[in-house]
Amino acid sequence: MSNPTDFFLDSAKPSLLVVDDEPDFAELVEAVAEEVGYDVTVVTDPMRFPLAYRRDIDVIVLDLSMPDLDGIELIRFLAENRGSSALILVSGFDNHILEAARLLAHGHKLPVIAALQKPVNLAQLKEILQTSSRKQAAPLSQSRDRPTEDDLREALANSQFQAYYQPKVSLIDHHVTGFEALARWSHPDKGMIPPGIFIPIAEECGLIDELTSTILSHAFHECGRWARADMAAKVAVNMSARVLTDLSLPERLLDLSRENGIAPASVVIELTEGAVAERLTTLLDILTRIRMKGFMLSIDDFGTGYSSLSRIHSLPFNELKIDQSFVREAPTSHEARSIVETTVDLGRKLGMRLVAEGIENQECWDLLESLGSNEAQGYFIAKPMPAEAVLDWRLDWDKRHV
Ligand code: C2E
Ligand code: MG
Ligand code: MG
Repeated sequence: MSNPTDFFLDSAKPSLLVVDDEPDFAELVEAVAEEVGYDVTVVTDPMRFPLAYRRDIDVIVLDLSMPDLDGIELIRFLAENRGSSALILVSGFDNHILEAARLLAHGHKLPVIAALQKPVNLAQLKEILQTSSRKQAAPLSQSRDRPTEDDLREALANSQFQAYYQPKVSLIDHHVTGFEALARWSHPDKGMIPPGIFIPIAEECGLIDELTSTILSHAFHECGRWARADMAAKVAVNMSARVLTDLSLPERLLDLSRENGIAPASVVIELTEGAVAERLTTLLDILTRIRMKGFMLSIDDFGTGYSSLSRIHSLPFNELKIDQSFVREAPTSHEARSIVETTVDLGRKLGMRLVAEGIENQECWDLLESLGSNEAQGYFIAKPMPAEAVLDWRLDWDKRHV
């Protein structure tokens, strides 16, 4: 067993932290993990977890039921610390609790690679750890490579940020309704870096405004190009809470749409539920004026934040995106399906368009279609693609589905 402080030594091995109050079980996990090449730390007193934790630990094996500090509280801790660790949840409780914890972790955007009921099958655990350690070897999956503020500034100065576009299609007539612009960092050495790596850093160091402006100009420009090619489609852009403090944002959006010759109604601004939980007065001012100018407003990742229903109702949203963690699990999890059903019902009653994100297979598509979601987005339709690929993809889709 290595000491918790060993984590501060840079090691080429993938790292694993076991948190379980049962020393016998923790030792078994340690033995299996070491066998497949992990550098393992064991914590049997959950109160010591914050001391042993580092954001760049590759895998955390977490027992849900422990005295003093339970696994659910540790999931909250992990979410607040925005680490990059993958989670393996274990529990002696029934499947319902394990499933609920898994959904909770998904909702916090924590990657869960397995949820195992005790007694754990060690051969299965070994296989999961082996697969995961191969993934951890991929570049930039670890926050040891976490970019710094200077890296981001340099990338902005060198125009290394661009948008990829992922289609949204109608579940009623299968027409393409629009594309969501998703930020990508095209790094000269490291390749394409996903937003989960750099958006939190841009938010922390105040570069998110500049980054959002870059993505907005790309997205509005592309939307104008689609319209000129007679393939008009909406474009959706993501915005963080931090950007929603600028009272002149609605006017900036209007100027941009005029410059690119697009109607405000073809632009959707997506905000996460978390953004809605903050500063209501400023938000109401900005969002109401965005809607009054004719732009669409969408609430992203619905179901993962903590905003109250009345607050959402009091804000002028006209689209609701059901979070992909619920959509993906809906065909197999009773709990996830209930959440999706309730959300569709709620959206309908509030007169909002419903978009289901995370449609990964036919089963998911069929289920969401039958539940009454208006639109679908997900790998089953297409992965996010570079701007140059959009029109060809669209022609192909229309040929096959419309
Ligand atoms: P989001 O807005 O909820 O975007 C959907 C994310 O889900 C995208 O990840 C997309 O690639 C992924 N996705 C779509 N369909 C599927 C599917 O079927 N299966 C799976 N497993 N994943 C799917 P991406 O591009 O990595 O973006 C992650 C998040 O980063 C976005 O989540 C959004 O919150 C944020 N983001 C992206 N671009 C920007 C931006 O310009 N500004 C801000 N503030 N946030 C951004
Ligand atoms: Mg979005
Ligand atoms: Mg989303």
